[in-house]
Amino acid sequence: TFKELGMKEEILKAIEELGFEFPMPIQEKVIPYMENNTNDLVALAQTGTGKTAGFGLPILQKIDVSVLKTQALVLAPTRELCVQISNDLKNFSKYMKGLKVVPVYGGEDIVKQLRQLDTPPQILVATPGRLIDLIERKKVNLSFVNFLVLDEADEMLNMGFKEDIETILSKTPENRQTLLFSATMPKEIANIARKYMKDYEEIAVGKRNAGAENVEHIYYVVQARQRYLALKRIVDLNPDVYGIVFCRTRQETKEVAEHLMKDGYNADALHGDL
Ligand code: AMP
Repeated sequence: TFKELGMKEEILKAIEELGFEFPMPIQEKVIPYMENNTNDLVALAQTGTGKTAGFGLPILQKIDVSVLKTQALVLAPTRELCVQISNDLKNFSKYMKGLKVVPVYGGEDIVKQLRQLDTPPQILVATPGRLIDLIERKKVNLSFVNFLVLDEADEMLNMGFKEDIETILSKTPENRQTLLFSATMPKEIANIARKYMKDYEEIAVGKRNAGAENVEHIYYVVQARQRYLALKRIVDLNPDVYGIVFCRTRQETKEVAEHLMKDGYNADALHGDL
């Protein structure tokens, strides 16, 4: 249980309310690891494995809420992920009085984000580009960071954040604890780990997002204008088919659904405008 893993009362109460009964495998590995040592960690884990609580809970456990300095920094590739991580951490720390978590990311008015940084949050969740901007404006001070998390590190590299990440790493203390999470382990990730992480352990947890083993995948190469006919033929060959057709745009979902309905199939469209 989380209690056996040593979580403090305020955290236990919050995660119980969220319905967390038992730790997920990644949490069973990361929580005791962080409890017992200050070495770095590389974790091969996909979204859906519970990795946010995996790094979030032990960090919350160790933050000193009476110190108004940024003690933990979480880097994530996208605005959506930043907001999600920040919300998760806020939920986990609901009963920790005085704890502030702030997400900062590109694509939103920087002035609004600057206001939230007037008093430094103990935990900052950021996309690399926006964070560099804030560092240059001297609005964040990373010299008290004890914990640094690189979440979806492979995605951050794919998005071209390598140099930004290296700049950010250089602004944090050398004796920080660095936790790197990645769904894949390309050579570039191993290089970053070797270059910037010390005495790190590697762990891996099950692939939650992998396709189900008993699902067969088939693909057909057709020209765009024959796509609908191909779809119709697949449906005709499988009269009891119950399926989902994913499209790239809202317009396409409408066109495919309307076509199918006009041809007498029981279909409908679902997209963000509805
Ligand atoms: P994540 O991989 O961090 O995005 O987490 C995936 C989902 O699992 C989120 O909705 C979490 O709230 C949920 N979750 C994380 N840990 C637990 C747990 N120990 N018990 C139940 N749900 C959990």
